[in-house]
Amino acid sequence: MLVSASPTAEKNAYEVALENFDLAANALELEENVRAMIKYPERELTVSIPVRMDNGRIVRFQGHRVQHSTQRGPAKGGIRYHPNVTLDEVRALATWMTWKCAVVNIPYGGGKGGVTVNPKALSLGELERLTRRYASAILPIIGPEKDIPAPDVYTTPQIMAWIMDTFSMMTGYPVMGVVTGKPISLGGSLGRNEATARGCFYTTRASMDQLKIPMQGARVVVQGFGNAGSIAARLFHDAGAKVIVCSDTKGCIHNARGLDIPAVVEFKGRTGSVAGFPGSDGITAAELLAMDCDVLIPAALENAITEENANAVHARIIAEAANGPVTPEADRILDKKGVFLIPDILCNAGGVTVSYFEWVQDENHLFWDEHDVNAKLEKIMVRSFNDVLKIHLDKKVNMRLAANMLGVGRVAEACRIRGLYP
Ligand code: NAD
Repeated sequence: MLVSASPTAEKNAYEVALENFDLAANALELEENVRAMIKYPERELTVSIPVRMDNGRIVRFQGHRVQHSTQRGPAKGGIRYHPNVTLDEVRALATWMTWKCAVVNIPYGGGKGGVTVNPKALSLGELERLTRRYASAILPIIGPEKDIPAPDVYTTPQIMAWIMDTFSMMTGYPVMGVVTGKPISLGGSLGRNEATARGCFYTTRASMDQLKIPMQGARVVVQGFGNAGSIAARLFHDAGAKVIVCSDTKGCIHNARGLDIPAVVEFKGRTGSVAGFPGSDGITAAELLAMDCDVLIPAALENAITEENANAVHARIIAEAANGPVTPEADRILDKKGVFLIPDILCNAGGVTVSYFEWVQDENHLFWDEHDVNAKLEKIMVRSFNDVLKIHLDKKVNMRLAANMLGVGRVAEACRIRGLYP
């Protein structure tokens, strides 16, 4: 079976994204002209962000916006605020967005942004000034027809509202469609906040059906308890599964009978962490990954499952809510162990799908109810899962390569139909 790649500590995320592309392009026997057109980012912008801190000092941060592809529509992708953000990480995330939008067949290319900053160390005022300065620095290349940012790690609906406001100050009229993931009162879509987790839930449920694992009582382990992880945990809990482990940066908690997820969410809201939740045992991060379970959901950052710990994994399904949580070496080990993997560009595509719905609603000044949003999302996620599964079964490639082949193949087709640029 052919195996595709994701980031490692040795290889940076962008090198892995390029390797993933080559594997998919080779499997598709793509012609060289098309490869040259679609492999590399179309546009990259690195900006300086001077921010006046509360103590009066000016501190300079660095930010990026990368547009990997606009072959199938405007660039689309989140903005990450994290101390480890690099240009290569943003390039990798932008590249994955291109294939992800193509896998779910929405009319977008791929983009991503990032600022190298620890937002937890900033006051609210400093965060707002940083965001507005970053937004004005990337303003020439964003817009509803060009490139539409959204939230990613440590960016929120409030941050999207500041970007929308900064952009609108420059145009002189409100431009709702310039970002997605906005608060509902500012043109956000119902269902957007839960969409990434919902997409993960729909694709995992489809995998469980395929493997004949009943939802009732299924044991689920969730790493990371932010937007994607905490809401996925709640959806599985509500569907009758037992979420036996969850974690955040401060600790991992375990209860073999199943954690009371709404109570864990309330506890984290009050204390800032899941650690110390009453009635749970504290376990280590290594024990979390080695836990015997039906579904393991990495929902934190890249490189969670590597060649060091992949052998210890005892999950039947891995659902990649995070981007790039499994390294290529770990992919090979998990493949041999017969673990069924739902790759990130499929599993977490619910977020960008409802971002697309938000943009459609904003551009049409017409809003849908939550039931409509969720029903449309479910249809797209189940159809996309079946498209990837078909390639996995027909071509005898693993699920990651199958998803990459679907995504790269659709972008290549768009590129051929448009013709080569003069
Ligand atoms: P978030 O900022 O809401 O939450 C991140 C969570 O991960 C936090 O609970 C944090 O404590 C935890 N975490 C960080 N490092 C950890 C570690 N080493 N061990 C355990 N927990 C750790 O971010 P999010 O939006 O939920 O994003 C999580 C992942 O999902 C990222 O890879 C992101 O790119 C991906 N993703 C998010 C969306 C979205 O719409 N939010 C869409 C697609 C993909």
